[in-house]
Amino acid sequence: MTFSGNISGHAFSADDADFDRRHIWHPYTSMTQPLPVYPVVSAHGAVLTLADGRELVDGMSSWWAAIHGYNHPVLNAAVTEQLSQMSHVMFGGITHPSAVALCRRLVAITPEPLECVFPADSGSVAVEVALKMALQYWQARGEKRHRIITPRHGYHGDTFGAMSVCDPQNSMHSLWQGYLPDHLFADAPRCGFDEEWKPEDLRSVETLLAQHHHEVAAVILEPVVQGAGGMRFYHPEYLKGVRSLCDHYNVLLICDEIATGFGRTGKLFACEHAGISPDIMCLGKAITGGYMTLSATLTTRHIADTISQGDAGCFMHGPTFMGNPLACATAVASIDLLLSGDWAARVKDIETQLKSALLPLKSRSGVRDARVLGTIGVIETEEPVNMAELQRRFVDAGVWIRPFGRLIYIMPPYIITATQLEKLTQAIDKVTAG
Ligand code: PMP
Repeated sequence: MTFSGNISGHAFSADDADFDRRHIWHPYTSMTQPLPVYPVVSAHGAVLTLADGRELVDGMSSWWAAIHGYNHPVLNAAVTEQLSQMSHVMFGGITHPSAVALCRRLVAITPEPLECVFPADSGSVAVEVALKMALQYWQARGEKRHRIITPRHGYHGDTFGAMSVCDPQNSMHSLWQGYLPDHLFADAPRCGFDEEWKPEDLRSVETLLAQHHHEVAAVILEPVVQGAGGMRFYHPEYLKGVRSLCDHYNVLLICDEIATGFGRTGKLFACEHAGISPDIMCLGKAITGGYMTLSATLTTRHIADTISQGDAGCFMHGPTFMGNPLACATAVASIDLLLSGDWAARVKDIETQLKSALLPLKSRSGVRDARVLGTIGVIETEEPVNMAELQRRFVDAGVWIRPFGRLIYIMPPYIITATQLEKLTQAIDKVTAG
């Protein structure tokens, strides 16, 4: 068999584009009528370079992940150094310095009392692991608890367990009827991050807990920012309230910090806005600075010990690429890089600039809301956007912004300059002007 096309990664032919269109699935796209894709051949700092030489300022951080920008010398050096030792080794019966170094850091920087770490391969898997931990915990205690409570508008990933706790409408639960477990959906929090707190926001989750706590293993939620399910920023009192309710009804709390972790919302972890600690926390995305896929699920000593003393005698999970050394080494470098700089001031500066550029767009016709938290800027439109058309306009304006539904949003790398950020907000200004 022969292959046409090149593999250098630096050129992209019309034939490559044609092959892509006919044979390769992209996220949430049709194979018969795929949306356009833009070939990127390199990326440096906050700039993506297309095959035709055009340069785009990146507003997406490759979906929350590339917090330090692309091709960072410190992260590159960490990858190269690890590569010269070993790129991968199985984690069953073996450990290695990069995994230990990473887990030491995760235990140190996440809220107490999280101290037992399961390093896995992607965000969705971290959520599967978290759900499994909760189920095994109750199993080990001799209680039959199989249900999970979660607020509507959540998003936790695309594997079946994760999907079962995503917003039922957004993730089309109707498609999977009979296949997905039957979980309990609370009303989504309504009070915005900065709005006056209204305790009624907790009523729905409280009612579900009061009625079902004997069969509920855990509540799972994204702390403070509901991401892919609507880019909603809710009041930290909601999170605080859910924590107290979980304590009251003796139900575990899982916080999915996969999108919010590592400074994105202005706190290192979004839980800190509410001053709470979950029983189980999921991390992913920015953990490696967006270099490669890795996630981690952390829990308490009590939960880990209880699981370990159950019938199985162990936690029943162990993926092939668990604790991948290249990913762990990169994550160590990314965390050290983040913590060695004044990331909080950087995030604050970006937040200030985003607020002054985007919040005034709220009064535009066709714009329902504009909101900013940390380095996340969101314009919510009245009508769903034409994704392909808007994306083309953004590319023509020299920026990479990928809207979906009624949301035009950005979460740029923290290293973005004020001028580059202005280019992003000006492009949004222009497309919302008509
Ligand atoms: N949880 C949250 C909050 C997410 O935003 C995502 C990814 N968008 C996931 C889980 C799933 O992560 P992954 O795509 O790495 O499986």
